[in-house]
Amino acid sequence: MKVKVLGSAAAEAMPALWCECSVCQHALQHGGKDLRRRTCYLIDEDTLVDYGPDIYWQVNAFNVDLLKIRRLVMTHSHSDHFSPVELHWRRRGYSVVSSDIDLYSNEAVVDKLRASLGLEAEHQDFSHIFLKSHILEAGREVLADGLHILPIPAKHAPTEKPYFFVFTRQGRSLLIANDTGFPEAEAWELLSGCKIDLALLDCCGGAHPKHKHMREGHMGAETNIEFRLKMLELGIIDEKTPVYANHFSHNCLNTHEELCQYLNPQGILVAYDGLELQV
Ligand SMILES: [Zn+2]
Ligand SMILES: [Zn+2]
Ligand SMILES: [Zn+2]
Repeated sequence: MKVKVLGSAAAEAMPALWCECSVCQHALQHGGKDLRRRTCYLIDEDTLVDYGPDIYWQVNAFNVDLLKIRRLVMTHSHSDHFSPVELHWRRRGYSVVSSDIDLYSNEAVVDKLRASLGLEAEHQDFSHIFLKSHILEAGREVLADGLHILPIPAKHAPTEKPYFFVFTRQGRSLLIANDTGFPEAEAWELLSGCKIDLALLDCCGGAHPKHKHMREGHMGAETNIEFRLKMLELGIIDEKTPVYANHFSHNCLNTHEELCQYLNPQGILVAYDGLELQV
């Protein structure tokens, strides 16, 4: 299995529009790994994890062939992760589309999609955008085209049921854990049954002195270190398993280099847009 990081920023992206902060100014001047789009991933060639406001730019910058995408797997409905208007263009008269895609998500994502399409609250038929909706449940694994999708309850967005995921294909497992704070016992119970070969963790707070211990809703660098140690302790990963931090807010005020300096000695790598990994 392969995973490509199509975006590595939190809600405002990096540089954030209008922002005068030091890291946004640095990103404007230097670009490269400090230019971060909203968080999104491509698994192999057929699965997108989240579908946010940068999707047009991501598809073009990273050569994503949308005609090969069979499913969207959504973490939650927040606007940096789900941009329903970018599904409107699948309607007749806008684009030439002939095959369905599957949307795996919680109810809040479907509610948001319905509202954006002007549909009634109970409407279940999305055939006019060639889409089939499937509601996920925590701990209930879904299997599609040989891809096992295990939704795990995230500590985030308490008004809905946010998930993070373990994806398994051909015996290899990938953990994508954003958006989430340090998970609750129920999530650790599900995780403890898994053997993870590569992990990507929410690191919204970065290494900022005030945010590095963030653990409610999102995590900071110190909480990522704790998360990795707990996975080691439970035998979910071993010392050699690559663990990456991702989903950074510009408010952490860290450049890519500074994040590497802080996290690398603790066994955690730093993700960036365009990073492609073999799981
Ligand atoms: Zn987010
Ligand atoms: Zn900024
Ligand atoms: Zn969120």
